[in-house]
Amino acid sequence: MRFVAATMKHETNTFSPVPTPLASFAIGRPSGRPPEGAEAIQHARGTNTGIAAYIDLAEKAGAELVVPVSGGAAPSGPVADAAFEHFAGAIVGAVKRGCDALFLDLHGAMVTESHDDGEGELLRRIRAVAPDLPIAVSLDFHTNMSAAMIEAATVMTGYCTYPHIDMYETARRAGATLLRALKGEVRPRIVWGKRPMLTHTLKQTPSMQPMKDVMDKTMAAEASGAVLNASVFGGFPMADIPHVGLAAVIVVDERDRAAAKTLCEELLDESWRRRADFVYDVVPLDQSFAEAKRLEGGPIVLVDHGDNVFSGGIQDVMETVEAAFKHGLADMAIGPIWDPQAVKQMVAAGVGAQVTVKLGGRTSMPALGLQGKPFEVKGKVRRITDGRYKVTCPMNTGVTLNHGLSVVLDTGNAEILVCSERMEAFDLGVFRHAGIEPTAKKYLLIKSRQHFRAGFEPIAKHVVLLSGAGVTSSDYSLFKFERVPRPLYPLDKDMRL
Ligand SMILES: [Zn+2]
Repeated sequence: MRFVAATMKHETNTFSPVPTPLASFAIGRPSGRPPEGAEAIQHARGTNTGIAAYIDLAEKAGAELVVPVSGGAAPSGPVADAAFEHFAGAIVGAVKRGCDALFLDLHGAMVTESHDDGEGELLRRIRAVAPDLPIAVSLDFHTNMSAAMIEAATVMTGYCTYPHIDMYETARRAGATLLRALKGEVRPRIVWGKRPMLTHTLKQTPSMQPMKDVMDKTMAAEASGAVLNASVFGGFPMADIPHVGLAAVIVVDERDRAAAKTLCEELLDESWRRRADFVYDVVPLDQSFAEAKRLEGGPIVLVDHGDNVFSGGIQDVMETVEAAFKHGLADMAIGPIWDPQAVKQMVAAGVGAQVTVKLGGRTSMPALGLQGKPFEVKGKVRRITDGRYKVTCPMNTGVTLNHGLSVVLDTGNAEILVCSERMEAFDLGVFRHAGIEPTAKKYLLIKSRQHFRAGFEPIAKHVVLLSGAGVTSSDYSLFKFERVPRPLYPLDKDMRL
């Protein structure tokens, strides 16, 4: 048997000014291209990733495995057509050369320059050359599900966690069902549905209500064996496209289709009934900092979710950093702030040098009518690092992250980590690799949303969320949605189904 497996992952924030060329899928790679073939397999083996699960399944099944491409980029603006064509060309090419099954690890919220539904377009092209090929698809919880994706997939699963710590398991679930189908044990069919609602990313995590009840029921259905796979997708709200929304997808053996339909509708109805609980109320920044100053002990993790790189943020909006200084906070670790120019300036000055730096604020956000605004700081260049460390927390465990050339700037009240490549802070290695011990600090100011909970929550005495400015702002009224379907909750608060 010959299997093809591939990764193509991007969560597209259509409001983000950050471009997404092919190079974004190949950070730190001189070739400028994501890994493929034996190199991709070697990279993935033993990591908590979807492709690693497919590799293990193929080995167990004694199948030859071809990996034409395996790459992901941090969330940002629409994917360049050339980048999408690279992935689609490699995957469709491998399928064309002949295979018995295809295992895809996709995101589910990719928008390209030419296609609102990157994954749907990829799958449509695969189906055009392989109408009967068994295809397993594992997806991120933030998938905006489309009919095109459903029509082309044989089996489909999504993450049950947010922060995402079940990448491997999600792909394993999809792959295992597809292998059963290959053996003729089951005939998978997909039953699915959606509700017109933008669930807020700060309110949609399955570890808390209201999503907890919905996800628990979903996972219980799969665990009981009543269905082959069951998934609920929270959706990704920062996408001005026609197929946003919350979805449920049940993979079921042909004869159990009626029961799956009932389950699917129950999951969707429960989500819709509790729609008001998926809305996040924005807290003014001054109020959040006042709270941070009142709290005792540490570390107190301050989370700026308005400029979160893993939701498409620029990672250089300085509003919350400026506010932290204005409020007189001390004993802080801050960052990483993305500013390759400042890194260059500080590296040139050298370790130990006193510098004055105009930090961040280099990027404007036309979709929100905001101009970039740097924040001038004085301090000492404390350390220079290569920005690399291996993840030890439960999310992406074992993967080496790369913030690029990075510098620690010590202002006296804060050690600010400034980096050259965008990457969310979710693992403590981000500070530790740079010689900053996060548990020894009173305040840790990071840019994140939920993923920080994987690494930072265990050491946090308190967590304070900061509604900072940026293209991942939690205030939906700042975004001009023009292409989403209307009515859509909560943009249309009084809507009925
Ligand atoms: Zn996600």
